[in-house]
Amino acid sequence: MDYQVNEKGYYGDFGGAYIPEMMYPNIEELRKRYLEIMEEPSFKAEFDQLMKDYVGRPSPLYLAKRLSERYGAKIFLKREDLNHTGAHKINNTIGQILLAKRLGKNRIIAETGAGQHGVATATVCALMGLECVVYMGEIDMARQAPNVARMKMMGAEVRPAVSGSKTLKDATNEAMRDWISNPVDTHYIIGSVVGPHPYPDMVARFQSIISAETKKQLLEQTGSENPDIVIACVGGGSNAMGMFYHYLNEEGVRLIAAEAAGKGVDSGESAATSVLGKEGVLHGSRTILMQTDDGQVVEPYSISAGLDYPGIGPQHAFLHKIGRAEYVSITDEEAMQAGLLLTRLEGIIPAIESAHALAQLEKMTFRGNEQVVVCLSGRGDKDLDNYMKYFGF
Ligand SMILES: *Cc1c(COP(=O)(O)O)cnc(C)c1O
Repeated sequence: MDYQVNEKGYYGDFGGAYIPEMMYPNIEELRKRYLEIMEEPSFKAEFDQLMKDYVGRPSPLYLAKRLSERYGAKIFLKREDLNHTGAHKINNTIGQILLAKRLGKNRIIAETGAGQHGVATATVCALMGLECVVYMGEIDMARQAPNVARMKMMGAEVRPAVSGSKTLKDATNEAMRDWISNPVDTHYIIGSVVGPHPYPDMVARFQSIISAETKKQLLEQTGSENPDIVIACVGGGSNAMGMFYHYLNEEGVRLIAAEAAGKGVDSGESAATSVLGKEGVLHGSRTILMQTDDGQVVEPYSISAGLDYPGIGPQHAFLHKIGRAEYVSITDEEAMQAGLLLTRLEGIIPAIESAHALAQLEKMTFRGNEQVVVCLSGRGDKDLDNYMKYFGF
């Protein structure tokens, strides 16, 4: 079975590039050149060096002993939380900025919801000395003030999106408009495995370093590069795609993706796309998204800002449809408890996003010798306020 994108940019029925005609030249340039650039030895060398010396890779694969005892399985954590800037997003922004330089671009744009992708983008722009404009909904800017401050300190311009609901999808519209007006000098860094082809494939390739390292580390620690089960959380799906990538063809490895059920799948306040979604077009690709009967995108909800997205990337839609990966729903409450549990058992405060993946452990029964890898996509420092309010510390 081929799980990767085909020549036309599709994963089965999903993917493609549903874009305004005026964006065609930008996407076409990227589509024609991304693979050739990513395969250049000088590109690989620069990417590898930055991953090592700037991001701090390889990120450890940590056998969590007390967590393992609790669940009766060998549980390993892939520590993306220890990366520079605190999450997996930097893997992708480094890859894309190196690509942008080779395409001769000197200006970077991005859109951000919670601000995490905006910060990861502003970071690599500072690193490379490129101009950076980040679009962010006006409401999100108020909700995520510390991330706005981080971006500004890095030298980025944060432009408020003031139309519509003043959140992520409005920021996305603004970013696309900007790109259409500045096709020659500007690259648009998308932050997950979403958007028109070739973005989902390109971002998955940059994030695939997560599973490439995991295979090596697991081989060293256990004598086998394959675990029984891999678990990761899904917003758009980039940390999960990176965690699944080199296991897709290892059919014996169970792949589990944890979506945010918010206050419950049927509560009307949820982001459980695979359960509630239908096929349609979102952010330039055909995928599964939460929409009303007349095709309006439903506003998603999750306590974790990073999972608060109304769709999933097209490769996830495909893996879901053919059953290669299992998509499960985790509520706010389950995630928060799992976040507290990891903190108390291992001294690691996870991002609330990552806590959704951890919460799946509570729902499984193990025979005692299974090897499980959980992708710890980010650290919880950004979520301390949320944890404190929730538990009343
Ligand atoms: C952004 C983010 C996510 C969700 O994004 P994906 O593209 O689904 O990986 C998950 N975890 C953390 C820590 C994040 O910052």
